[in-house]
Amino acid sequence: SARQVNIAIIGAGGVGKCFLSQLESLAARRQNKQKLVLTYIATSKKAVYSDSYSPIALDSVVSTLSSSSQAPLALPKLVDYLAASGTKTVLVDNTSSQDIADAYPSFLRRGISIVTPNKKAFSGSYKLWQDIFAAKEEGGALLYHEASCGAGLPVISTIKDLVETGDEVTKIEGVFSGTMSFLFNSFAPTSGSGGGKWSAEVAKAKELGYTEPDPRDDLNGLDVARKLTILARYAGLEVESPTSFPVQSLIPKELEWRRSKAEAAKEGKVVRFVGSIDVASKQVKVGLEKFDLSHPIASLKGSDNIISFYTKRYGSNPLIIQGAGAGGDVTAMGVTSDLLKVLAQL
Ligand code: NAD
Repeated sequence: SARQVNIAIIGAGGVGKCFLSQLESLAARRQNKQKLVLTYIATSKKAVYSDSYSPIALDSVVSTLSSSSQAPLALPKLVDYLAASGTKTVLVDNTSSQDIADAYPSFLRRGISIVTPNKKAFSGSYKLWQDIFAAKEEGGALLYHEASCGAGLPVISTIKDLVETGDEVTKIEGVFSGTMSFLFNSFAPTSGSGGGKWSAEVAKAKELGYTEPDPRDDLNGLDVARKLTILARYAGLEVESPTSFPVQSLIPKELEWRRSKAEAAKEGKVVRFVGSIDVASKQVKVGLEKFDLSHPIASLKGSDNIISFYTKRYGSNPLIIQGAGAGGDVTAMGVTSDLLKVLAQL
């Protein structure tokens, strides 16, 4: 009979709900190989679980959760609960919680694998990063976080593949924020016209599900800084934290970028919010830069991200990854494909 793998999920927001529907069809398609059993699900307010680890039906999980009167388990209790099942377990963290990220080492050490779009664990202190990878080894657990950078785009897997096959990354440059991409593409389009009300466009980006749970985390540049921290670490730089390098905030500086936009326009250019990592000089930075209209960064559309990897092997023509960098379904795809990678190894 098919082996069982237990799944525990924290978070059922924009990404979490899309993930649940992808999980339902994945579980159906995988029936003959593995039996996927949801044994725990929680939001910040509610949870569903039982001492006997009875399966939570995937087709009605959202309504089961909303009518539940159970409170979430405290994190140390959750670690014990999942580890005591005697069945291989994967934790899916669909939150942006730092507390949960801080608890990854405790889960991993007990052999619980993790997949997540949450950036906090990999872009916090360098010590947490080291603790996480040490705990993963110790517990023999698996860990994937593709959607923590560029949503469903294969960014993390690409940099890992480059490094692990012996290539040398020299520079990474790009637009790493779906929100910033959306805002700048509509405010400073290459066609020259545009420029509605900033606050209205920010609200629209939030409505479309592009922004971080708190849009200020996008506008202050911290979200991009976190992604660069993760990539810089995989490229071999010991970046201490996402606040240890220069990051330009756009709160509340609409004026600042309007001035930059006008200056760029005089030179026949457009302004974009970009991040870059120069490996040799160990320089990481995030902020506004001007680009020729013909530059791929200038002609991005919608909420697309673009990430260019300059490496020894690729020479002066970088490996470029481009496409939707935000949105529930594409982000959940990154999480679901990570889960598939874990399942293939359990
Ligand atoms: P959201 O705010 O819609 O949902 C967050 C969910 O997590 C909610 O159900 C909330 O109750 C739950 N939660 C938060 N803190 C919790 C805690 N301490 N304990 C239990 N539950 C908790 O957010 P989202 O847009 O779904 O984003 C989820 C994650 O995906 C975030 O880490 C985000 O950075 C990442 N991400 C999102 C996108 C996107 O386009 N939305 C893209 C890439 C990555």
